[in-house]
Amino acid sequence: MTADRSPKPRGECPGASSRGARPGDRREETTVHDHRRLGRELGLFDTDPLMGAGLPYWLPDGAVVRHTLEEYVRDAERAAGYRHVYSPVLGKRELYELSGHWDHYGDDMFPPMELGAEQVLLRPSLCPHHALIYRSRSHSYRELPYGMAELGGMYRAELSGVLGGLTRVRAIQLNDAHIFCTLDQAVDEARAALGLIARAYDDLGIRAARYRLSLPGRAGKYVADPGLWERATALLQEVLRGVEYDAAEGEAAFYGPKIDVQIADAAGRESTLSTVQIDLHQPERFDLHYVGPDGGRHRPVMVHRSVIGSVERAVAHLVERHGGAFPAWLAPVQLAVLPVADAQVERAHDVVRRARARGLRAEVAGPGDGTLGARVRAARLVPYQAVIGEREAGTDLLAVRLRDGRRPGAVPVAELLRRIGERVAARGTALWEGA
Ligand SMILES: [Zn+2]
Repeated sequence: MTADRSPKPRGECPGASSRGARPGDRREETTVHDHRRLGRELGLFDTDPLMGAGLPYWLPDGAVVRHTLEEYVRDAERAAGYRHVYSPVLGKRELYELSGHWDHYGDDMFPPMELGAEQVLLRPSLCPHHALIYRSRSHSYRELPYGMAELGGMYRAELSGVLGGLTRVRAIQLNDAHIFCTLDQAVDEARAALGLIARAYDDLGIRAARYRLSLPGRAGKYVADPGLWERATALLQEVLRGVEYDAAEGEAAFYGPKIDVQIADAAGRESTLSTVQIDLHQPERFDLHYVGPDGGRHRPVMVHRSVIGSVERAVAHLVERHGGAFPAWLAPVQLAVLPVADAQVERAHDVVRRARARGLRAEVAGPGDGTLGARVRAARLVPYQAVIGEREAGTDLLAVRLRDGRRPGAVPVAELLRRIGERVAARGTALWEGA
């Protein structure tokens, strides 16, 4: 490792690779859509100096959003044919020497922990573990493409001066996957990954600001193999055919070029959320192979990809993008039931019980929580609000007010819950049928 901290290659797998804001362009904390302020106000996440800078914890409402997002990604990956694994967040120093992280990315890694005669490290990426898992079994060409996915922890020794909220953290939960495939399959697999990303952005109500082809810079500790960079770059250009993109030098991973999907915050400041890479380097380092139709050993390609990048950055962006008004399927509370007076409280709890039995996240905000007006204001970010007055309590009919102000007519409670359940299950951004 050297002391050089000047332009560094990105050493980690897709998604976590981007740094987002740099210290010089820090925004005021009071910006309307600052995720740190909203995160505290909405009770999503926080930090404690004793846990340490860059190590946020998730409060119950934030944990709901995170869990729901993670399950969305796992479902999308399962539907696309990926298989999920778990691997440890620690590895021996020799693993990262083999992967190249120790030489090319050491400045961003936590120092090794001495354990008897061994040194173990908090991992800077998931790639080395997945390469070992692939290598642990023999693979036939018939198994390829083999998509190995994991939502796993990784760590970065960020300096405390640049840490903030969920966008610059030291402990990162990465939505990661590696597709081990033949060279002929790599472009299609990378394109399919871009398709998964586009679909997820639609469902999450977020927008790609632009696509970027990230190339090595003149400075920085990139692996020296000009042929490798040329081949991998040509493949990514093929993946991007028909897509508008910009090329940027100095943004590649140390082992190869990548496609970055850039997002922008309210101030127009860009960061990378999702990435796709075609990697010809690590399969060599780990001596990976598959058995071809000829019975011989062949070298696979590794496609690294992340759909939503790190969970931390994805939630930060969602909070800012929606100002806390999450799509219904992601909202910490989906249905708020507001009895006008004490006489309707029991009825409100009955509706909430029925909603929960359907898998919806519903809460009663009763007279004890304030005036009706104050409770309606407090529930303004909840996608569905139902007020129960004397009239509603006397019938099985119930009307909701949607967060956007619309008021579909009253229907039987079971019908209402079914319709809300359908919207939530669709995992899109529309609050009601057709809109
Ligand atoms: Zn990777």
